[in-house]
Amino acid sequence: MAKQYRNLINGEMIETGEWLDVVNPANEEVIGQVPACGQDELDKAVAAARAAFKTWRKTPIDERRAAIMAISGAIKENADELFRLLTSEQGKPHNQAQQEIYGAAAMSAAQSTLSLEDEINEDSDARLSRTRRVPVGVVGGIVPWNFPVMMAIQKIVPAMLSGCTIILKPSPFTPLTTLRIAELIADKVPAGVVNIITGEDDLGPMITAHPDIDKITFTGSTATGKKIMEGASADLKRITLELGGNDASIVLPDADPKKVAEQLFWSSFSNAGQICIAAKRVYIHEDIYDELSAAIVEYAKNVKVGDGAQQGTGVGPIQNKKQYERVLELIEDAKDKGYKFLLGGDKDPSGTGYFVPLTILDNPPEDARIVAEEQFGPVMPLMKFKTEEEVIAKANNSEYGLAGAVWTANPDKGVEIAEQLETGTVWVNEFLHLSPFAPFGGHKQSGFGAEYGKEGLKEFTYPQVITVKKDNVPA
Ligand code: NAD
Repeated sequence: MAKQYRNLINGEMIETGEWLDVVNPANEEVIGQVPACGQDELDKAVAAARAAFKTWRKTPIDERRAAIMAISGAIKENADELFRLLTSEQGKPHNQAQQEIYGAAAMSAAQSTLSLEDEINEDSDARLSRTRRVPVGVVGGIVPWNFPVMMAIQKIVPAMLSGCTIILKPSPFTPLTTLRIAELIADKVPAGVVNIITGEDDLGPMITAHPDIDKITFTGSTATGKKIMEGASADLKRITLELGGNDASIVLPDADPKKVAEQLFWSSFSNAGQICIAAKRVYIHEDIYDELSAAIVEYAKNVKVGDGAQQGTGVGPIQNKKQYERVLELIEDAKDKGYKFLLGGDKDPSGTGYFVPLTILDNPPEDARIVAEEQFGPVMPLMKFKTEEEVIAKANNSEYGLAGAVWTANPDKGVEIAEQLETGTVWVNEFLHLSPFAPFGGHKQSGFGAEYGKEGLKEFTYPQVITVKKDNVPA
């Protein structure tokens, strides 16, 4: 029988008697089971978080930081076990799973150093007015399956630091590593401050609708984000939404194809393309299009697609069957329309596991589904452009606005173009870099609010203005 992982409610590891299977996407075998929580367990977790909030909000920030550091330490000390478990449930190769686990430990430690100081609005003879930040209360955190551990940490750490308590719901596709972390931290965090529960598709809407939850912080698809916004409107819960993206990379004619080919490859194919900020549309200037596209294809031919647990694998499977079928559908549509493939375009012949061969398209039209929609798979459409004006318009022609990149020998020119892109993050000559100190969030339909940095931390607080009239003391 597959190993059973329990949930964390009020400092206790619990089970419900009903179990959900978790599958390894590389071989479709059941590798673990997790509890199926319903309204009862959610109510218990919310009650525990509500009770813990009373004392946690008043706990000195240094003690809250120490609890975050204990989580960071537990992740680091158990990294070897955790990254292997992460590969088995998520599919990503061991080296990328290691990056996620060590990255989560480092992000927690770095974010724990943030603080929100009081701001003085007025200090005159008449009055002293200052703004302080107070925690919102009980938070519901809902995360996806592409970076299950990093996303969980991204919700738990700022909630704890701000003085909030949290109920976190992992994706039913990838709950195992998060629940193993729950077990490791159960005695390191005061009971009720962090609760982690798993369930089927109905658990997310139950969290959004729960009257005793004050805020939802969500990472996932734009479609689900809209449902959450709607659900949260009933009692005006605060919301932070990190949603989908269709990021454009722009390669200017002065970029050396030999220097950028490999980096461009990984900006699209890391984590099998299942990254909100992956380069999903790559625009290359016509002067270097042939040379650069040939260099990317040449590099791709040496990258092995396979089980992430096997040495030498560069790109793993798609994480789940539904997403696998969606990516195949987009590739099939591109084939039906007669678009040209430089690589891939076929289904993996082996049959077992959700593998999609690396797929690179040659100059498909802007309205191709594989260009206009978020593929979220190992697919890289390369498109030719002539002028800056044209490429900026094309990059901005999307309902998404998450991130983007400009590649050029002239960084000033890169910044000039970056400033014209309608996205929350733009990199010049790098990709996928997120800082714990810089706000990360989407423009347009890629999100609402931000995570990371002081701006991200503020989202877990309300501003409270205290004004003291100095010359009217009734004494
Ligand atoms: P998803 O929206 O299907 O699911 C995300 C989470 O929401 C899961 O835990 C799921 O169980 C839960 N959920 C589903 N329906 C719900 C509902 N009605 N109410 C409340 N919760 C519900 O997303 P996914 O397929 O797991 O993840 C892929 C998507 O996430 C992509 O669009 C990707 O771009 C996006 N993403 C965004 C970021 C970012 O930071 N902007 C990061 C990673 C992934």
